[in-house]
Amino acid sequence: MSNVRKNRPNGLIIAIDGPAGSGKSTLASRIARKHGYLNIETGAMYRALALKAIESDVSFDDEDALMRLAQDSVITLEPRLDGNRVLLNGENISERIREKDVTDAASRVSVHPRVREWMVGLQREMGEGGGVVMEGRDIGTQVFPNAEVKIFLDAAPEVRGDRRFKQQAGAAPHAAVTKDIRERDQRDRTRAASPLQPAPDAVLIDSTELTLDEVIERVEKVIAEKLGKTVASG
Ligand code: C5P
Repeated sequence: MSNVRKNRPNGLIIAIDGPAGSGKSTLASRIARKHGYLNIETGAMYRALALKAIESDVSFDDEDALMRLAQDSVITLEPRLDGNRVLLNGENISERIREKDVTDAASRVSVHPRVREWMVGLQREMGEGGGVVMEGRDIGTQVFPNAEVKIFLDAAPEVRGDRRFKQQAGAAPHAAVTKDIRERDQRDRTRAASPLQPAPDAVLIDSTELTLDEVIERVEKVIAEKLGKTVASG
């Protein structure tokens, strides 16, 4: 039996990282469905904590208070075919956490090293058995540096803004959506703790000019190669 199969009884760990609007969530859910894996959206966890901070009137800069909130919160991700259902202390917050105030707050609470450490610990517990597609910003670099498959998905900022604009069905003007995405990226890429960056061994895919099916095809090739190697090395 190969090491991969021994260590990961449920299947591979597939890490998908990249900036907002790069298409990670759709890609992750399609890949997970195809392989019968769990799809875990780690951004939802930072969003859940951000919502809790908003509701509790806690400053996004107060790491100690954020840690107390985190320790008091039970954040549950229920993988579904169309994405994760997110519960905060039993309450369904799946829709609320996609709103703009929570989106901005998520990228503020996520800069704190102890908050990240807490989240990473939970994410490792969720994924370590394998059989998961985990998407976020630091999965291939921090959460599972030993993931069998690492994808870094990117696209030009205008294209990412455009996709997000269409997803939100015109809830905000196009220029505002693109500006928000740029600002969030800037924060995610320049923070001191685990900034958004590709792992050295990640496969980089620029989806600017690719359809979703073309991206999936590329990722499937990487997975097949890995599974092929896995079998051959057994
Ligand atoms: O992926 P999503 O847009 O839901 O993530 C919301 C925010 O959570 C990101 O802008 C980022 O600041 C943070 N995040 C993170 N690390 C992850 C996932 C998300 O810092 N693994």
